[in-house]
Amino acid sequence: MTSLDEFTAQATAFLETNATRRQESRQFVWGEGSDKVQMFEERDRELETEMLAAACEWRRLRFDNGFGWITGPEEFGGQGLSSAHQRAYDALESRFDVPNQGFFTIGLGMVAPTIAAHGSDGAKDRYLRQMYRADIVGCQLFSEPGAGSDLASVQTKAVRDGDEWIITGQKVWTTGAHFSDIGEVIARTDPDLPKHKGLTAFVVDMHAPGVEVRPLRQMTGGASFNEVFFNEVRIPDDDRLGEVNNGWGVALTTLMNERAAIGAGGGGGGGASMLTRIIEMVRHFGLNDDPLVRQRLADLIINARVQSYNNQRAMDKIRAGQLPGPEMSGAKLGGTANAARMAEFVSEVLGVKLIADSGEWGTYAWSQLVMGVPGARIAGGSDEVMRNIIGERVLGLPKDPGIDTTSPFRDLAVGTQKDGR
Ligand SMILES: Cc1cc2nc3c(=O)[nH]c(=O)nc-3n(C[C@H](O)[C@H](O)[C@H](O)COP(=O)(O)OP(=O)(O)OC[C@H]3O[C@@H](n4cnc5c(N)ncnc54)[C@H](O)[C@@H]3O)c2cc1C
Repeated sequence: MTSLDEFTAQATAFLETNATRRQESRQFVWGEGSDKVQMFEERDRELETEMLAAACEWRRLRFDNGFGWITGPEEFGGQGLSSAHQRAYDALESRFDVPNQGFFTIGLGMVAPTIAAHGSDGAKDRYLRQMYRADIVGCQLFSEPGAGSDLASVQTKAVRDGDEWIITGQKVWTTGAHFSDIGEVIARTDPDLPKHKGLTAFVVDMHAPGVEVRPLRQMTGGASFNEVFFNEVRIPDDDRLGEVNNGWGVALTTLMNERAAIGAGGGGGGGASMLTRIIEMVRHFGLNDDPLVRQRLADLIINARVQSYNNQRAMDKIRAGQLPGPEMSGAKLGGTANAARMAEFVSEVLGVKLIADSGEWGTYAWSQLVMGVPGARIAGGSDEVMRNIIGERVLGLPKDPGIDTTSPFRDLAVGTQKDGR
């Protein structure tokens, strides 16, 4: 195995040659000049296409130079190195200006680890190398209009037809479906089994006949997620993930990776770079000597540091090839709680400047963080559901009594418990 020192030297040489080192004094470039949030404008899809192309180009360069899948198995295109190597690379790359890699959070953070854990050899061969090289991008097709927190209620059905499956149904809130090439879909394969047991997971080709993607606009102004309709879409059996009717176990692998990825900053916006921007904003408004502001800022920094150590432990487990467990809900909850703290702090510091599109530097652009936090608290499992999982599966507390769907208000009306006491 390449030693860490040797690897660091190679990675530094690669970055020095292909990227520009970020200058300390110019770290906070977001919001410079006109402070308009690009995503509010109609041309957001055009801008997104440009950003995606740049992101893919950078990933390809990384991959072709041996930095695209540092911890992955060599047979599928990885380098077979340790998580310490990955951390060393991440730390180095954060000092350079490189295109935003957020487009790959779902594909590489959730779908690829699931294919690696549950895919056939053919599927691993077809997708993993291509995904890590950004030749294809992946999305996650789990939620439906009637199945979110209660994911096991999915109604999209898959019926076997020889060596193929035929999928029909509707998904919703599918982030990035409009630029994805493949998706991980959970479908019902046996309606007669209990709901958690009759599900199967597949990789679906997003360009196959019968797949229709319709954008949804969210309150941040962007349109990053979609409704996806499947009308008799054919999937080869070799693209099945895991055993027939064991889709729940496969979905859990994805969800635990998702919670770790969001907690690590992929969706929560609670990462170190956000903190750097906040510190620069406080300096910009001359508030860095205000004792109350300093105290709140210290609180944000401490929470972010604790979260980062926690995430490091979680990500090391994943990179060491272990399946992430229910403790990943803690990583997700920590990430979104920190993002919420940051949004609250920014709102208090900026006051009305936050909501006025005045063109003043470092003001209105923050509305994207503030408006995005509620979504982050829902995506990948809501805060309430994360607390249930931590309570039941980490702390061993009694199970959530659930909702009596036949008569939901009866118990409240008579003041009794669900068991009739
Ligand atoms: C920004 C964003 C991106 C997303 N991207 C994707 C994606 O790429 N792919 C995908 O498949 N899905 C995606 N989703 C969907 C997401 O997974 C669901 O929104 C989420 O699981 C919640 O489901 P729901 O919206 O149906 O809400 P519901 O499940 O209907 O929940 C409604 C409310 O009830 C609460 N609740 C539900 N059950 C319980 C319980 N047992 N105890 C206590 N409270 C409970 C919830 O906390 C919530 O407040 C995304 C969502 C967001 C916001």
